[in-house]
Amino acid sequence: MNTRKEIFGKVKKVLIKIGSAVLTGENGLDLNIIEHLVDQMVDLKKRGCHVVIVTSGAIASGKHRMGITAPLKSMPQKQAAAAIGQSRLMRVYSNAFGKHGIYVAQILLTMSDLTDRRRFLNIRNTLFTLLDWGVVPIINENDTVATDEIKFGDNDQLAAMIANIIEAHLLINLTSTEGLYDRNPARSKKARVIPLVRHISDDIEAVATSEATDVGTGGMRSKVLAAKKVVAFGIPYIIASGKDPCILKDLFAGKEKGTLFLPMAEHLTSRKHWIAYTLRSRGKIILDEGAKKALIEQGKSLLPSGIVGVEGDFGVGDPVLCVDTEGNILAKGIVNYGAAECRKIMGLKSSKIAQVLGYKDYDEVIHRDNMAVAKKTS
Ligand code: GLU
Repeated sequence: MNTRKEIFGKVKKVLIKIGSAVLTGENGLDLNIIEHLVDQMVDLKKRGCHVVIVTSGAIASGKHRMGITAPLKSMPQKQAAAAIGQSRLMRVYSNAFGKHGIYVAQILLTMSDLTDRRRFLNIRNTLFTLLDWGVVPIINENDTVATDEIKFGDNDQLAAMIANIIEAHLLINLTSTEGLYDRNPARSKKARVIPLVRHISDDIEAVATSEATDVGTGGMRSKVLAAKKVVAFGIPYIIASGKDPCILKDLFAGKEKGTLFLPMAEHLTSRKHWIAYTLRSRGKIILDEGAKKALIEQGKSLLPSGIVGVEGDFGVGDPVLCVDTEGNILAKGIVNYGAAECRKIMGLKSSKIAQVLGYKDYDEVIHRDNMAVAKKTS
């Protein structure tokens, strides 16, 4: 069986990272390239595949708009250029998707957004809502507020983190080269693209130089570092050329283009593993028999109606243990309501939440996506 066909055939949620060098040409943003890519993404959506984009190009586009040809040196200059370019970038994506009747949403993030539990949860919930609504989320680093210390380094790393957040089935990193070469193509004519990487060995890391393109910041080293994180979550990763006008179509047809990194067989099962084994719980929620059954046997979320007790003083976004009335651990999850709120709404139908609390952000106290269940059910 063709490995690529097998992998691509299963993809229902794809994260596509597009580098600055792909999106920009001599005349600023390359509208042709963007239209080609968007048309192919629309085809993927028509086939029932959710699409999320991590895009660069804000700084390059802003710089071009201002007629600046020399490299931008200071942080404020780069941030100012990003502020100019980001809105242009979004307009171009919005127009390209708009032709197909598809809406886009802009999401700008910094590292501190992802390490903060509440913000992390919000980002995740927002992204899932947008996907539910058929909208294409377009993510970039929030360059205007990022500083050296909190910068992701580059969008390759940001994309790796987002792949985990959205539990992508595949991350495609579109760059200005054909893939990962076995030696530096600028120095050797014998250089060939490595089609398949089963394991990221020291040799593979060694061939990935840190030389970045003129406009991007990442370089191949950063793309391979990102690949390591992504495959460790069990997500396949591909580096391919975004300049190739049929790239997405061809990849999904199983054609051998770019470099495919296979997911690790014994991978950390993404966030659920992280929730179960990394986070320390801040409290307990005691469930009745109905909720226990719903969680363990039916793969459902935790609703307030099944809660019979709350222990501890946790806040929104904290990890909490779910136990039965005998104290047996059933699950661990990240709560949408703090302990005080949970005490007020326990035993009630979700339709009563707004009446009791004065607001309702979620029907669930713990959404299924944010929960690791003791006995595997799904
Ligand atoms: N966030 C930067 C931009 O939009 C790009 C960072 C990168 O190239 O990795 O210009």
